[in-house]
Amino acid sequence: MGTVETVRGPVDASSLGPTLMHEHVFVRSLEIEQNWPTDWDPETKVAQAVARLTELAEAGIAAVVDLTVPGLGRDVRLVKQVAEQVPITIVASTGYYTYDTLPHFFDGRIPALRAGGVDALDEFFLHDITEGIAGTGVRAGMLKCAVDEPGLTPGVERVLRAVARAHRQSGVPVTVHTHAASRSGLDVQRVLREEGVDLGRVVIGHSGDSTDLEYLTALMDAGSVIGMDRFGVDVYCPTADRVDTVARLCQAGRADQMVLSHDASCHFDWYEPELVAAATPNWHYLHISRDVIPALLERGVTEQQIATMLVHVPRRVLDPVTPY
Ligand SMILES: [Zn+2]
Repeated sequence: MGTVETVRGPVDASSLGPTLMHEHVFVRSLEIEQNWPTDWDPETKVAQAVARLTELAEAGIAAVVDLTVPGLGRDVRLVKQVAEQVPITIVASTGYYTYDTLPHFFDGRIPALRAGGVDALDEFFLHDITEGIAGTGVRAGMLKCAVDEPGLTPGVERVLRAVARAHRQSGVPVTVHTHAASRSGLDVQRVLREEGVDLGRVVIGHSGDSTDLEYLTALMDAGSVIGMDRFGVDVYCPTADRVDTVARLCQAGRADQMVLSHDASCHFDWYEPELVAAATPNWHYLHISRDVIPALLERGVTEQQIATMLVHVPRRVLDPVTPY
């Protein structure tokens, strides 16, 4: 296996232990913080993140992929401070997070208007992968974008195709945040196939919000890994239903095409913290270790299938060896 870039530097893919493939450290609204009073305080938040990730390591998780890309307030300098103090591996990512439009910065940076004829998105994504992010030397180990309810708007499709091109050039794998209720994973697969992407290197994120086995099986039949990666986000799908879906797919022999995660974070400013705590009490890093794995075992999922979803599939996906 090849080498995976992490916040603390490269590691052998084969050395990665149990890995949560879709988490966040800090999800922030940077321009709001710069201008208005918020509860953001870097020292307190770094200390909290160190405590939470240390607990997670004690619960047996060895690595997390932090899918916080620009659009979600990525700040790799701060994540690096956290990574240096925790016994857990963190993988950083690149891409852009939007459900509809891109910032105006990108309006005039399309290939037709640039001297080199390259979309600025391609340039930025590849810079993060080859040179490192924001002068930290931390290289991105995963590409990430989003196709949510609005579907393939021009801005979203531009990001998705740029992610595909950066993947083909670098071999770095892809996670796409999808909107399972509108089956947007199938649209994602169509575009990525057009771009010549091997769908085996692609995680269709948030598939676990759906209990539609026909949809989920179609995504896997096309070759992708599906992200059962919002355990604890009960407002989209309660834990019992998420567990039931994973158990049924394991029974059908599909453990080798699923990954488990929470999409949780140490700081998430989209809603008032009290509201998040009340609506999603189990949305935290420890839910899978404490509650979900025992529930899966009770449903007949084997220890070996859990190791497949937590260790073997993440290793296979994160291994950046490229076939192109
Ligand atoms: Zn996420």
